[in-house]
Amino acid sequence: MAKKGAREIVALVCSVCKNQNYITERNKINMEKKLETKKYCKHCRKVQLHKETTKLK
Ligand SMILES: [Zn+2]
Repeated sequence: MAKKGAREIVALVCSVCKNQNYITERNKINMEKKLETKKYCKHCRKVQLHKETTKLK
């Protein structure tokens, strides 16, 4: 059964090495566009652009 509300768990994946580094929540109603954020990637050992994916590992 789906939970109440439109919040969705998404993962943030490094756009360079494709490693999943962060888990976050987003609100489907307010967020039409895909989330993109710059965060530190421990695999690249520097800040990279991270993109959201609904595929959780
Ligand atoms: Zn990376």
